[in-house]
Amino acid sequence: MSDSQLLTGLVDSHCHLNFLEEPTASIERARAAGVAQMLCIGVEEQSLDQVLAVAQGNSGIWATAGLHPESAAKLDPRQHNLEWLARGLIQDKVVAVGEMGLDYAQDPDADVKAWQQHWFAEQLHMAKAAELPVVVHTRDARQDTLKLIQDSGVTRGVLHCFTEDWAMAEAALDIGFFISISGIVTFKNAANVQAVAERVPLDRLLIETDAPWLAPTPHRGKPNEPSFLPHTARFVAQLRDTDPGALVAATSANFFRLFDRAAV
Ligand SMILES: [Zn+2]
Repeated sequence: MSDSQLLTGLVDSHCHLNFLEEPTASIERARAAGVAQMLCIGVEEQSLDQVLAVAQGNSGIWATAGLHPESAAKLDPRQHNLEWLARGLIQDKVVAVGEMGLDYAQDPDADVKAWQQHWFAEQLHMAKAAELPVVVHTRDARQDTLKLIQDSGVTRGVLHCFTEDWAMAEAALDIGFFISISGIVTFKNAANVQAVAERVPLDRLLIETDAPWLAPTPHRGKPNEPSFLPHTARFVAQLRDTDPGALVAATSANFFRLFDRAAV
């Protein structure tokens, strides 16, 4: 398949459409680029209604509800609860809990880590009770992330925008998780992500944009959007020495296996 041939049936497994400058125009460009389905990710209480509105107002767009570790780092567990999230999880088109997780990249102090861990554990617990898969964000917090997932008994989820090492990927795969590769894989300095993208079993691989962040080469530095997903799909296919169409077919089927409340 040549580069000029349009890929079809792509699924962007992780994007933040409500944070794009022009969500409606971006969705149209995505469809024209062959991106048939998108999962719009919730990160906090404040913008959850926007996430739900984008999903509920457009076919082929699904939603998640969750508390991102950056938001979790600002919420004192003594003063807040997740009742809003429990309400979010029963809304139409919500297919997973997240994004949730741990982010130690900025070397947070012990209190912030404790708050992140508290909210991550609570959300894992809610996902388990609701029998929903989870969308996990993890940065420089390998052991704590794996331990909290293992302690929760959750076995269905994805480590999104994966940037850790192969040992971490393998441990997550052992639990039953999927690994999602973002446009970072196209960056010159991303040898570790490329190595993981090459090795993840095809039936556990997802692709995503994480738009509006992390635009793939050749759009690096610009605002990202789901229409850029084919660049990542082709790059990963090339790394794995496989046909881009086959890579897309597999990752799209994986999406619907993991997020089984989404149905075409
Ligand atoms: Zn995200």
